[in-house]
Amino acid sequence: MAHPLASGSVVDMHTHTRFSDGVGTFEENAAAAVAAGCAVLVSTDHLTLPAEMDPAGEVQVVEPELAAHRAAWAAARDAHPELEMVYGFECDWYPGCEGNVMRWSSGATVLLGSVHWLGPVDGGGWIDDVSDMHVWEGLGADGVWSLYVQTWCRACESPLPFGTMAHPDLPERMRNEGFPATTDLGTLWDEMAECARDTGRRVELSTAGWRKGVGDYYPSRGLLERFFRAGVPLTVGSDGHRPVDICDGILDAYAHAWEVGYRTIEVPRADGSWESMPLR
Ligand SMILES: [Zn+2]
Ligand SMILES: [Zn+2]
Repeated sequence: MAHPLASGSVVDMHTHTRFSDGVGTFEENAAAAVAAGCAVLVSTDHLTLPAEMDPAGEVQVVEPELAAHRAAWAAARDAHPELEMVYGFECDWYPGCEGNVMRWSSGATVLLGSVHWLGPVDGGGWIDDVSDMHVWEGLGADGVWSLYVQTWCRACESPLPFGTMAHPDLPERMRNEGFPATTDLGTLWDEMAECARDTGRRVELSTAGWRKGVGDYYPSRGLLERFFRAGVPLTVGSDGHRPVDICDGILDAYAHAWEVGYRTIEVPRADGSWESMPLR
């Protein structure tokens, strides 16, 4: 078992490199993490996707590069013995993904579960891409929210071993892009908290909302409070896509989680174990 982390250590559970849709290399991200005083850095590039979801291979680590991805991660890890690095992937859930995810993520220590892609809408589409809003235009904000929550709960129910559910209220991304929900989200938030609790999932507190113009964390406070009341454990990540974003806002997120009532967060360790780390 790994030596327990000091209370309140900086941990970034969610980061990307240029192998998927990020900008930095593993080495650049590791160096940025060390400079930020990080104790544990989890690398979570977007896993390989079916061709119809990402024809140009812009989002994912494409299948022919999986081995090079693993090797580049290991080289950065070996160059930074002062930093604990954990190898993982962010896995988009879509119907029938289970076999693909298990095959492509083989050997990873941690998997993030997430929903960015909603299926039965004009051939499917991304909900967090401002350059292609056809899902939002087709369904409207309330329709996207409703389908998203339904899909998110199916992802929670999946047999895939997701260590945490990333940015649980991603549709908030378009709140300030002309698509705010017009119905009260409280009922959907209740449903999400129940799904996470009943399926034994952890959820992520993500600082990315602050960098994406949402003006809040993912999840927003009302949903985070519901997760807390339901006893759903929390992880914290930046979802950094640039070296400068690595560990961004993590300590503020700890203070925010504390204010909502959380006293510990969950941290994956390089040996595959999970630890409840006190926030203070
Ligand atoms: Zn994501
Ligand atoms: Zn991400």
